[in-house]
Amino acid sequence: MSAAAGVTVRVPAKVNVQLAVGAARPDGFHDLANVFLAVGLYDEVTATPADGLRITCEGPDSDQVPLDRTNLAARAAALLAARHGLEPAVHLHIAKRIPVAGGMAGGSADGAGALLACDALWGLGTPREELLAICAELGSDVPFSLVGEAALGTGRGELLTPVAAGRFHWVFAVAEGGLSTPAVFREFDRLTAGQDVPAPEASPALLAALASGDPDALAGELSNGLQAAALSLRPELAATLAAGTEAGALAALVSGSGPTTAFLVRDEESALKVAAALEASGTCRTTRTAPSPAPGATVLPA
Ligand code: ATP
Repeated sequence: MSAAAGVTVRVPAKVNVQLAVGAARPDGFHDLANVFLAVGLYDEVTATPADGLRITCEGPDSDQVPLDRTNLAARAAALLAARHGLEPAVHLHIAKRIPVAGGMAGGSADGAGALLACDALWGLGTPREELLAICAELGSDVPFSLVGEAALGTGRGELLTPVAAGRFHWVFAVAEGGLSTPAVFREFDRLTAGQDVPAPEASPALLAALASGDPDALAGELSNGLQAAALSLRPELAATLAAGTEAGALAALVSGSGPTTAFLVRDEESALKVAAALEASGTCRTTRTAPSPAPGATVLPA
């Protein structure tokens, strides 16, 4: 495809290595201390000129992706166009590899990807700060999809500070069906009703382990405050977590709001072994392996 015909942007999935959740705020959102880590598992969004806004999607889970204006890629294109007084006359094609509704920010990745692709296609040169503001308007996880690597997200997760991360290896077990992020937060509220939920704070020990690149150190510090709520809604995920640990994973946790589960492993060889064991266990639909960190949304050479 020539540069004049289209722009393709590659965007990573994420795993939360720490997800500390505060009590519900009056606006319904929760304050978070959210340590995002981008992993080398990518969607690609290609923007080409068209008469109107059109979304298409390919990939194993593409039938679960909405192709109307509710798609985050469509919303991103419409927001950017409106800011510049343009019509969003663009065809966005999503090559989907990130599990859908899996707690790995796949929709957010497509939103960030579409924003960058349209910005390049339309020659707008929107400043980075403005792109980040549009991302935050699209959703709490979208700014991180743009920047990638590793970052601490505060507020509802959209206020990002980069943090250091060594190289790690992961296996992801994709569950049957998705979990709605708002439903998991509602379950969190139900489970913590009447309790004193502490203000969320990033763990210094977790940040040090992440920077060190030592998988044994990181394994002891991973935490997800939404895990109990995800397990309450999907109790069968406990068997997936156990299968990965039995197969030699150093640590296992629910990825974000789930139902994808994430396994930290020592190296690439161990990743393949744990992935094979998880698939053989019958406790998940499929697996993916990926290293971290990974770069944020990137325009691919034409
Ligand atoms: P997060 O980790 O940010 O909570 P998630 O990975 O759990 O998100 P997504 O894959 O982003 O979940 O999808 C959540 C819902 O968003 C889907 O069920 C779908 O209806 C809707 N959606 C909108 N746009 C997209 C998109 N481009 N790709 C996938 N889902 C999308």
